[in-house]
Amino acid sequence: MNKSFLILLSLFISFCSVGSDESTTINSDDSTSEASEITNNQTVNNIDGDIKYFIASTVSNEHEEMLKEWVKRAERLYFSRSSAIVDNLYPIYIVQLDRDNAQSASELEEIFCQFLEDEHKKPLRWDGYDASRCADNKWSQEEYERDGFFVQPNGDVAGSAIMSIRQRDGYSLFLSRTHDLPEHASSMGFVTLHEMFHIFQNSHITSTDDYDEQRIINGRKSGDNPDHDVPWWHEGVTVYFSYIDYARETNDPSWFKDEMECTLFCEYDMYGNKSRLQVYKESGIKLNNIRYDENPEPVDSQIGYEVGAWFVAYLVQEHGEEKVLNIYSLLDEYGFEEAFIMQFGNDYKSYLVEFDKFLDLPKENILNILQSN
Ligand SMILES: [Zn+2]
Repeated sequence: MNKSFLILLSLFISFCSVGSDESTTINSDDSTSEASEITNNQTVNNIDGDIKYFIASTVSNEHEEMLKEWVKRAERLYFSRSSAIVDNLYPIYIVQLDRDNAQSASELEEIFCQFLEDEHKKPLRWDGYDASRCADNKWSQEEYERDGFFVQPNGDVAGSAIMSIRQRDGYSLFLSRTHDLPEHASSMGFVTLHEMFHIFQNSHITSTDDYDEQRIINGRKSGDNPDHDVPWWHEGVTVYFSYIDYARETNDPSWFKDEMECTLFCEYDMYGNKSRLQVYKESGIKLNNIRYDENPEPVDSQIGYEVGAWFVAYLVQEHGEEKVLNIYSLLDEYGFEEAFIMQFGNDYKSYLVEFDKFLDLPKENILNILQSN
């Protein structure tokens, strides 16, 4: 299994600390928020929200259909959960780019930017257009020059990511990049689940529309240095659920086990003939200190993502998936650290020490925890 195509999968690559204090919350009335039927003691949200698709002209029908199918599945799996705050999910703009065609991506960028300007430009105040890379303010231009938008400065088509803050900008923006079919069909599935899960996670925050504050709430500042942005928890949960739900939706439990096994023990080619687990252990860096960027070689953020997913599997084995999914409704009020203790009975740093000992067990014992999933 080769997952190098996943490397570029990232979250909020754009909004590092800028623009947020100039922002105002924009209320969108495009979304529906009725809570309705009761199933298994869970109130289920009505998820008939507003999704607009922007599909690059060279994207195949097959890709487009797969994207839409997996978006529907993600809505059913995550957005219908009672804790999700529907007003913070929708409207969702989903941009599908063709990984092999930068020209169609750049044409679509123009169309999308025009749409944003028409729909979200407000006179005399910072708005959802100003906060995008379409705008001509200093911040937007700097972001654009550094990372591009639908096309990166090196000419590559941008990777899959969430590119907005719903509470601040008035919309969720999900950039999706195609994966080669048929060999990477699974990626069209689990990457779509992954990004939609981020929209679900972020919807729970009602206390702030500030990006930095949201990251603290989401556990992304849980390294030993609180200034660092760390993926182990936020991405670990997302990777875990995108993998296991992909396997469940395709009725293929062995896919989940193979994928999880490989993330720790295969893919030697990416790290100079070592497994991710070897690299992680040899580095001596604690899981919660691995950053989204600026890691010492050969550690990269993917180790945070994938070993993070194993940490979640470890928690799930002891506490079940609901405990993990239900933490989101506690974060706003209690913060990540306290909410973690409430759900799992111990603080996350102690849990991480315990988890590192678990990773010292023989491979067979490590893989065994997936049996009960
Ligand atoms: Zn992510």
